[in-house]
Amino acid sequence: MAKKTARIAGTARNLRLRRNARIARARKTRKVKTGIQRMSTKLTENVVMESIGQEALPVVEYLKGRKDISEFVIAKGIRAEVGYVRQMLYKLQNQNLVTYFRKKDREKGWYISYWSFNPKGVPDLALAIKRNRLQMLKERLYNEEKHRGLFYICPKFCSRMEFEAATEAGFRCPECGQPLQHQDNGKTIERIKENITELSKEAAVA
Ligand SMILES: [Zn+2]
Repeated sequence: MAKKTARIAGTARNLRLRRNARIARARKTRKVKTGIQRMSTKLTENVVMESIGQEALPVVEYLKGRKDISEFVIAKGIRAEVGYVRQMLYKLQNQNLVTYFRKKDREKGWYISYWSFNPKGVPDLALAIKRNRLQMLKERLYNEEKHRGLFYICPKFCSRMEFEAATEAGFRCPECGQPLQHQDNGKTIERIKENITELSKEAAVA
């Protein structure tokens, strides 16, 4: 019951976030921007999506072009809960995409954090993401080449495995029970190699 309520609350929050992101985007497109700005906006968006996720976008959108904003003001600005905003800010800070300082509030007597977007963190993170992806592709290539010509796949594409695992599964898909088919992974290997070449170039010039 509690789980279900939490899920519904989560969905409502997602809807609200999506709407806020849409409003922020509409507002932004009204402004005339140079090509470079547009490019950096796109890069920032991609980097945030890949390193944290779409849910952090409204916070980033709100902080861009502003400086030293408290999490309470951000929460109000994007109509989200403070706890959620704080969670996103910590994730962003972990990726060096925001900076902050803490100051004691004289009236309330507690410390408040003031946040700013850190555009310098974007290219660094973009490069780190590319290098990470490159590393994963190289590992994938190693695995594909190690089992060259020894892959088995479900005709419905629900599973794919190398010979040993296929033997253990009795050459039947563990998901749907269909007999597994032998798959020539030569094309997959070629495609991975192409991706690696492409990504290596990008990671080198970035
Ligand atoms: Zn299957």
